[in-house]
Amino acid sequence: MVKQEKRHGEWSLEEVKFLRENYGKMPIKDIASQLNRSERSVYMKARKLGLCRPGKKGSERGSSIVECATCGKKFKVAWARLRMGYDNYYCSRKCADIGHRKRVDINNPLVAYLVGLIQGDGYIRDHKRKAVGFCNSNTILIEEFSKAAKSVGLKVCSYRRVRQNNKKRQVIDVYISSVCLYELIKKLSEKSALLKFVDISREHSIYWLKGIYEADGTLACFGRRCQLRIANTSEFIIATVEKCLSKLHFKYSKRHEILKSGKTLYIVTLLGGSAEIKKFLSVVKPCIKNKPSKEMKNEELKS
Ligand SMILES: [Zn+2]
Repeated sequence: MVKQEKRHGEWSLEEVKFLRENYGKMPIKDIASQLNRSERSVYMKARKLGLCRPGKKGSERGSSIVECATCGKKFKVAWARLRMGYDNYYCSRKCADIGHRKRVDINNPLVAYLVGLIQGDGYIRDHKRKAVGFCNSNTILIEEFSKAAKSVGLKVCSYRRVRQNNKKRQVIDVYISSVCLYELIKKLSEKSALLKFVDISREHSIYWLKGIYEADGTLACFGRRCQLRIANTSEFIIATVEKCLSKLHFKYSKRHEILKSGKTLYIVTLLGGSAEIKKFLSVVKPCIKNKPSKEMKNEELKS
């Protein structure tokens, strides 16, 4: 079969008539094959004729097939939605709800990692769908977060946006739309609950510490002297950091300073010099801040 060449150029009166009668009722793909024109040309002509307007139903000129994140069914998603860059799509509201309500196993240490990162640098959101997430410009960290979420069976959504106070800096916002994780983090904002949670296993302490360190930690070097510390304004978080460090047999010192905003910043510093820092990095295995960063080399160290 010889493929017929697609029509170009001027639209005949019959073609326009056909388009007017069928646009919006028939898929663009079918109209295009009836008229032997490209989908794009059909769409552009329809726009010229005022048959569709951007943002209105039928204005999208295409769709793609994606898999439902819950049931695996294949279905069509309009390009306009695909452009948003979400990682997961649900075929129906029911499937979206199942994904949203999926249980997480708190015995999985990776859950402790997610909790640590979110408690250190993230947010919880309770309007519309309950969600937890964080935003950062470091793609390695975003990748690690997404990987951990996926291995505990949670779906991650992400989108890019510019920082509010700095329009030039782009950050990636990643969040997990999960009632279970949301409720867990709410529950763990209480000191005794969090202390109990990191005590589930040695791995829980390590993974939670990894999250907190990646979010709130710094590794600074000045000459040959290095310093590793974790700072946070929440007393219960710092108390938990202390507990995890003691459990893993690290020595530390703790101090606090009053910020301009009036809040207290608690700072925990690892003791024992570079040997202990090396040990910390090999136990906790952070995906970032695992080498002294260049910007910090010249920064004056506080003892
Ligand atoms: Zn589905």
